[in-house]
Amino acid sequence: MFFGQENVTKTGKGRMGERDLQNMSLEQIKSYMDVLQKSSEAYLFILDLVSDVYMIPEKLTERVDLPSTRIENCTEALKAVIHPSDYNMVVEDITKCASGEQTVHDLEYRWMSRDNRVMWISCRGTVVTGADGHKLLVGKITELGRKAKADNVTGLRRETRFRLDAEEILRDRPESIRYCMRIGIDNFKEINEKDGVEAGDEILYKMAKCITDTVTEQVDVYRLVADEFMILDAVSGPEADPKRVYKQICSKVAAVVRENDYSKFYTISAGILYENFAGKSSDELMRLSEFALNEAKRNGKNQMALFCQEDYNQYLKQLDIRKELRRDIANNFHGFQVYYQPIVNAETYRVVGAEALLRWNSEKYGNVSPAVMIPIMEESGLIIPVGRYVLWEAAGMCKKWQAVIPEFHVNVNLSYVQVHKSDLMNDVEQCIKDVGIAPDSLVLELTESGYIETDNRIQELFRDLKEKKVNLAIDDFGTGYSNMRYLKEIEAKTIKLDRSFVLQALQNEYDYTIICHLINMIHSVGSNVCMEGIEYSHELEKMKQAGPDLIQGFLFGRPAPAEEFEENFITNSP
Ligand code: C2E
Ligand code: MG
Ligand code: MG
Repeated sequence: MFFGQENVTKTGKGRMGERDLQNMSLEQIKSYMDVLQKSSEAYLFILDLVSDVYMIPEKLTERVDLPSTRIENCTEALKAVIHPSDYNMVVEDITKCASGEQTVHDLEYRWMSRDNRVMWISCRGTVVTGADGHKLLVGKITELGRKAKADNVTGLRRETRFRLDAEEILRDRPESIRYCMRIGIDNFKEINEKDGVEAGDEILYKMAKCITDTVTEQVDVYRLVADEFMILDAVSGPEADPKRVYKQICSKVAAVVRENDYSKFYTISAGILYENFAGKSSDELMRLSEFALNEAKRNGKNQMALFCQEDYNQYLKQLDIRKELRRDIANNFHGFQVYYQPIVNAETYRVVGAEALLRWNSEKYGNVSPAVMIPIMEESGLIIPVGRYVLWEAAGMCKKWQAVIPEFHVNVNLSYVQVHKSDLMNDVEQCIKDVGIAPDSLVLELTESGYIETDNRIQELFRDLKEKKVNLAIDDFGTGYSNMRYLKEIEAKTIKLDRSFVLQALQNEYDYTIICHLINMIHSVGSNVCMEGIEYSHELEKMKQAGPDLIQGFLFGRPAPAEEFEENFITNSP
């Protein structure tokens, strides 16, 4: 079975030739392809999506380390051929073809040649079901490096040509470059997916025309990978304004969309390099323009972004931090530690629990604040293993400290990424079982946000937590959404009032009155209130009168390593 899938659906709309193939048996398709192969530069292939058998032409076996023209167990065999960094992406894409989620495979990625060199290939194919029921991916592989330097879809020259031209200009007259603009079609993959490759090609063609009609004939325009274009203007002189050029291209694109009665709607984004070309290489132009284009897309698409060196440096630093995080996590959480901050009863000041707070001491960056590392871990998914690590550590300490303070509970922060992208409930149950603590010793903290009310996954989590008797706290209340209505519905054990909220109440009576009412209201729906961030005794005196149940803040203790926390608050607890 190919990639564990057997429910391969039939292809949808018939594309050119697709229907013909559906009337043929595998053997017929194969001999048809053999004939075509004789007159093709590309490598034509058939991949049986169910039996995982891969049929390729003889000449491809000469180029890469594939043993024969018929390969059983293709998924495994391709490991030796596809560049390790691209392998998962390819498997994922083909899995989607196998599952019926998509009917077109269209990727550019790297293979390793027999002489161990990287070779960029473009692999395009369509899912067809042959007359004998075989579910096949039929298509062609083109070596991009060998490809002509021009592109017949758009009539433009390709990346190879761009690099050659740019190198020459950068070497001889970098000051003549006015701007370099990289343009991408927003959501092009979806267009290709939904309407088919031919429709995608037509859009690429029209897009190229919108660009070339905007700039003068002397300005160089190239088609880069997939849906991206590059304008390198080294002729227009100081009056050339890339922002205006971008706007003009946008108007032309909008006109094309209008003329086609919005049957294919698309917009474009652009990344622009505007100055400081001296000393740069074509490689850098590619990288920096890609960054700027991605910024435009990250900011919501259908817009342009000027390259900003500071943002780029910040981005590179984040990438490096991510790399360091990844390495330390893989190295058995090297440099990670869980700190504990006491939570006290607001009447007696006795410690009744602790919040687990993550710390990371990086060899390269020293102590990195959670405010920096948590968003990076969320974006990369690393928060999932790290969240597990914190959960198990914190539950383990809780169990140990309950021997001295039986009602002790531990608060663990959750990220929305854990809720959406991991089987959180399974982890929580497993942790409770492994460590052997009562479920209600755990308090899971989720930051307040508008999602709480509307997101099904979160609602489901709340229901499961309640059913399993695990406690929930809403963290940082008062910093953002602060909707009172949902407080009743979610029945959280604790609402944690954020320090900024508390500070405001300390500064003016109006906010203080609001906090008093809010606390009453929270009590009336059966939740208790933890006030965060109490630092001084005068703050405590005043805020205590508002009637919170729990207090957490530097006044009672800063976050500290488990041993220190234990010594200060457990072993020597009154
Ligand atoms: P949070 O969950 O609201 O945690 C409380 C933060 O307030 C902690 O910052 C704590 O050190 C700080 N704090 C406590 N008392 C005081 C005080 O009296 N004054 C002041 N100025 N600050 C006080 P920290 O440890 O830097 O953590 C920041 C945030 O990072 C946390 O806010 C939480 O949202 C996140 N975080 C920390 N550890 C984890 C974790 O394991 N997983 C996840 N998903 N997020 C975490
Ligand atoms: Mg918290
Ligand atoms: Mg908080």
